[in-house]
Amino acid sequence: MKQLPTDFFSFTEIGGVGEMIYKAVRFPECVPEYDHERKEDIIVPICTFFNRPEAGTDYSITGQDLLVSLCNLYKKINAPDYSVGITEMVWDWCRRNVAPYNIEQLCNLMEQENYMELYLSGEIINWGTFDVKDFVNDLCKLGSAFEYYDVLKRVHVSHDVASGRALYYEGRICDSKPFLEKFRHCETDEEYLTEFNKEYDDLMLNVMEAIPDIRMRLQKNKRTGKIELGADVQSVFDIAWYTFARLVADVAPPIDKDMDYFESQGSILTCMACGEYFVRHSSRQRYCNNPNCQAERNNRKARAYYERKKEQQ
Ligand SMILES: [Zn+2]
Repeated sequence: MKQLPTDFFSFTEIGGVGEMIYKAVRFPECVPEYDHERKEDIIVPICTFFNRPEAGTDYSITGQDLLVSLCNLYKKINAPDYSVGITEMVWDWCRRNVAPYNIEQLCNLMEQENYMELYLSGEIINWGTFDVKDFVNDLCKLGSAFEYYDVLKRVHVSHDVASGRALYYEGRICDSKPFLEKFRHCETDEEYLTEFNKEYDDLMLNVMEAIPDIRMRLQKNKRTGKIELGADVQSVFDIAWYTFARLVADVAPPIDKDMDYFESQGSILTCMACGEYFVRHSSRQRYCNNPNCQAERNNRKARAYYERKKEQQ
């Protein structure tokens, strides 16, 4: 995800999740703390009080970027062999992204005339503070559902049976979806695919059931002055679920065409080198933008070229 400048807070508008552009708030910093009374790890935003934030337009975070970023975090946090502290990882995500909860409330507070009072009374900090446990719960629901959907597509479209067989594992926080375990007895890939395809519609039902209902409501777009019908989003998870639902839907509202972020619209794939999800920017992209993976791609291309040359001789 592209880094956005944060001298103070800034508003970031999140595009690519439908007809609406959603605003979000970035705090310049946040810190993990321990709530002794409730015995919970919490993340608390920090701000100083010089400038009042201004509404800006930045389309660099799309719903798909958010979905990818959260699902990659899920994979990392939930990997059975990963030992970095969970709170640290959530903290790290929040520092590099937007405030995850109470998005609309925070945006509204910052546009209030008495912003300074709200800041001083701690109200803004309160709305921006959240329990790590809640974040991790939401992350697991989203991440495991998307992981399952991704594997279904891979088996169904690319006949990638190995992915299907590897789906189920006991994670550090939650187990992945067990719905493909019933095909484990299949000895050959062919047999697996036949059984899988017979049940494909039912397997997709599991995805549909995992996606929560999406509340729609009318909202006034302050930038254009128009009233729009859009998904009611209070958290980054609402945005990610909505984006996810649009990927699953055969007939979904069209993706905005005339926005600056048009370039970043695309499907979500798994990098062939590191295995992370990424948003594809061109039809031929198979590797994420990580320089190591780009190097790996060039290596493989060179090797393939060499092999072809050798065969021709
Ligand atoms: Zn990669």
